[in-house]
Amino acid sequence: MTGRVLACLECGAPLLVCVQARGFCDARCRAAWNNRRKLRGAELYDLYMAHRWERAEAAGLGVFQAINRLASEYRAEDRAQREGRRSWRRPGDVLAERPYLKSIKTQVRGGR
Ligand SMILES: [Zn+2]
Repeated sequence: MTGRVLACLECGAPLLVCVQARGFCDARCRAAWNNRRKLRGAELYDLYMAHRWERAEAAGLGVFQAINRLASEYRAEDRAQREGRRSWRRPGDVLAERPYLKSIKTQVRGGR
């Protein structure tokens, strides 16, 4: 036991042991967390896909700088509205749910 108190990812309230695995105090906090991620993700999606697949145009338009600016704005919102609490899941947790992302990709005909 580390003595660390686990808190709701959304509101920061300490979580009872019985709900710590869920990460949220209630459905409202879970929905708020996921809705913010959906909105932010939707803003980033088109820019990131262009950065990855339309590189020349994206570079000319400064797409990666725009992606970084959005991330900075999101972090500023977190600091102002969420008392600085992190608004993203830990990458190790995300990758643990998707082990195929760490596997060696076989060459797909026509793929890049
Ligand atoms: Zn909460």
